[in-house]
Amino acid sequence: MDTDHPPRPPRPRNQNPDMSPTNRTCSIQDIPGSIELKQRLWKMKSPPKLKQFLWRMLSQSLPVGSNLKRRHITPDALCKRCFQEEETDSHIFFECPYAKMIRRASV
Ligand SMILES: [Zn+2]
Repeated sequence: MDTDHPPRPPRPRNQNPDMSPTNRTCSIQDIPGSIELKQRLWKMKSPPKLKQFLWRMLSQSLPVGSNLKRRHITPDALCKRCFQEEETDSHIFFECPYAKMIRRASV
């Protein structure tokens, strides 16, 4: 057996400090969105799919660029339609020039 090199120390199992077991705990305060607003949302008389969509928007869980980047699913959050700004909920529904053009054309 070659003994020129000392044995390597074991690799840490998790090298990302944010994902260490001590940082994985999540409390109700860490969840995005107003709890009161979410409670009112579920009491609305509207189709369940609309409630679920709005809940996902309040919880920052819609698959828009900014949320996907935050979850390390995509490397950039740039809007894939206009390539001008970060794709957020408000950008894609209210500010994106491409989305505005589509809305105008559909009326
Ligand atoms: Zn855009």
